[in-house]
Amino acid sequence: MQRLFVNTSQVVTCAGPARARRGAEMADAGVLPSGAVAIEADRIVAVGRQAELEGRFPHAERIDCEGGVLAPGLVDSHTHGIFGKPRFEEQELRAAGVGYMEIAKRGGGIHSSVRDLRARSEDDLYALAVPRLAKLMAHGVTTVELKSGYGLSLDDELKSLRVIQRLQAALPVRIVATFLGAHEIPLEYRAAPRNRTEYVDLLVHEMIPTVAAERLARFADIFCEPGVYTLDETRRILGAARAHGMLLKLHADELEPSGAAELAAELGATSADHLAAISEPGIAALAASETVATLLPGTMLFLGRARQAPARALIAAGGAVALASDFNPGTSPTVNFPLMLTLAVSQLKLSVGEAMVAATVNGAAALGLAAETGQLAPGFSADLALFDIEDIRELPYWYGDHRCRRSWARGNACHA
Ligand SMILES: [Zn+2]
Repeated sequence: MQRLFVNTSQVVTCAGPARARRGAEMADAGVLPSGAVAIEADRIVAVGRQAELEGRFPHAERIDCEGGVLAPGLVDSHTHGIFGKPRFEEQELRAAGVGYMEIAKRGGGIHSSVRDLRARSEDDLYALAVPRLAKLMAHGVTTVELKSGYGLSLDDELKSLRVIQRLQAALPVRIVATFLGAHEIPLEYRAAPRNRTEYVDLLVHEMIPTVAAERLARFADIFCEPGVYTLDETRRILGAARAHGMLLKLHADELEPSGAAELAAELGATSADHLAAISEPGIAALAASETVATLLPGTMLFLGRARQAPARALIAAGGAVALASDFNPGTSPTVNFPLMLTLAVSQLKLSVGEAMVAATVNGAAALGLAAETGQLAPGFSADLALFDIEDIRELPYWYGDHRCRRSWARGNACHA
């Protein structure tokens, strides 16, 4: 079945090579005034002027965009969307100056999400995830990465990944699964008689092989940060993941520069994420590598931190920057992905074109999907988002608003 998207004010194509855009390449999001897009089943077959496409596809079903802006479906390449209870009580504690360690001591932080998730059934977690993902889709996201990481035991990590597997089968949005068993050292391994090395051994010898054998995750990720996983532990865990055929991601240099970005580049990780505290050598290492720098400005905003990742320096060095929501119950409880575009412009100092490329093409590259989605160009998946605006610059401008009218993933309606 052919369909033709007509009557747009703009089509933002982000078209170009099927790889991450780097440095100055990020500036051009490819705005086509009054453009049209033709799709056949789940593929884009043509992008161009409306009159020309109407001539080429006279029998296609017409989808009237009513003067809106049509863009590639947004790609949210970093979320912790599988969790139980929210953690709203922590925000007032933070505002009152209570630090991360103190909140953890009072039973908050990642460990409280772990305790909560372990007590829940797979069905319960699935039922909680569906409406949360529906909201993300309603904001124009057609590809989303979901991490495990609040289980931190073999059974609870498998439970989380099976929830993701069920969501992949049930929802129209494209979902990429990431195993984040190395999100934290679980409390039971932080004190005698056990120790952290035993948990690393469990990850390497049991959890990663099982996740890989059951094909439950495309990526393995780790929180490589002083106080959580060391560089040596990260090498060991990600080395095991790679040996089992998984692609790699790192939570890197979020709070302190520890050499995690450099390690991501050295290991050939698909992405290094956060980077608010990346060092100069870290910027140079990422820019010289294929590793995408995924920035999460919502997290720093929500935590009330002044320092954002040095996006301009990363781009000036020739790096590839992607944007993601970091949707999670502790530090970024938002499903409003266009708000990340606002923060990209106002906090990270990106142009709107750079922010759009970061939220589409480069997000796809951060998931190893640069040849599949992130662009409106022939051969790519029919992943589109229609926004109720006349100029793409309005998308970050009306901040916090809800402007996505409809979206499609693989040609199927995601949101209407
Ligand atoms: Zn994260």
